[in-house]
Amino acid sequence: MERTEISEIGGEFALIDRIAAATNTTLPETIKGIGDDAAVIDSGEFYTVISTDMLLEGVHFDLSYVPLKHLGYKAVAVNVSDIAAMNAVPKQITVSIALSNRIPVEAIDELYDGIRSACEAYSIDLVGGDTTNSRSGLVISVTAIGTVAKDRVTYRSGAKPNDVLCVTGSLGAAYLGLQVLEREKQVFLADPNMQPQLDKHEYVVGKQLKPEARTDIIYDFIEGGIVPTSMIDISDGLASEVLHLCKASGVGIRVFEENVPVENPAMLTATEFNLNPITVALNGGEDYELLMTISQEDFEKVKNLSEITPIGFVTEEKGAFLVLNSGQLTPIKAQGWEHFDAESK
Ligand code: ADP
Ligand code: MG
Repeated sequence: MERTEISEIGGEFALIDRIAAATNTTLPETIKGIGDDAAVIDSGEFYTVISTDMLLEGVHFDLSYVPLKHLGYKAVAVNVSDIAAMNAVPKQITVSIALSNRIPVEAIDELYDGIRSACEAYSIDLVGGDTTNSRSGLVISVTAIGTVAKDRVTYRSGAKPNDVLCVTGSLGAAYLGLQVLEREKQVFLADPNMQPQLDKHEYVVGKQLKPEARTDIIYDFIEGGIVPTSMIDISDGLASEVLHLCKASGVGIRVFEENVPVENPAMLTATEFNLNPITVALNGGEDYELLMTISQEDFEKVKNLSEITPIGFVTEEKGAFLVLNSGQLTPIKAQGWEHFDAESK
């Protein structure tokens, strides 16, 4: 038997491409299968969109500094974010958990407090799930379901030359929040009498622990009669998502360094950690903001929305580039977590 390491074929995204290439859909109702933020199913009057994400203890979260209530909230928010990325409104979720025997009932109550609080915040219902044993740690898998009018569904693949590239909110804070939490954990491990110093970093830590899905923007778009030409949510970092839009749409993208929104508290934390804020915005991830392309025609309407910043444009010529403040072009590469962590430390 041949044995190929996942890293040899190019990592997680290449693996998903490989699964997708070998998988056919057969039903006329299956409008979009593997390859976007959510699958799209024809439900007659409208489309239903479905997305799943899994969070693993030790990989995606560390229970030594993540409160369970926040974890529950975040598990829902990151799934709702994928629904929003299709320009859809979230409706229901199912939640599956795998538990080790060191988790008490009170901890599960806390986790579900967070889950229910997110359900309230996003006006969705928890309608089911599954519960099982885990030998390693806590696993949470959430599936989110949403709906969208057929003429409003937005894929990664619709970007056209001259569209304006826009992003919601600001970037980089969630990754910096994680750096703060990791640092304080190390300080605590070295001397358990030390109390964590988080007050100065409330903003970035808040963005890490309690990210929000941008469903507010989806309602703004419905109200304003705006349909982005393409959209994706920023889970892995601006660089990775720009490349996804380029690949799916068969276009190129230019991003202006000076326009990438980074809030002051994130700037300050980046400086403290000796990190370039733009590098963090490009490669940090977990911001769960929406990245989209808007036609010139719709851009007039988007200009009135304060939460949306234009950061670049779409080109017919393929290739993704960052336009530096000096005017120089540098290719955008997806570094992802591991590479970035290795390089930045
Ligand atoms: P996101 O970061 O938006 O959650 P992913 O990169 O996880 O997106 O997934 C991209 C696409 O690949 C989605 O359509 C997702 O449903 C699909 N996908 C991911 N993993 C698998 C898998 N193991 N089997 C089938 N489809 C998968
Ligand atoms: Mg996504």
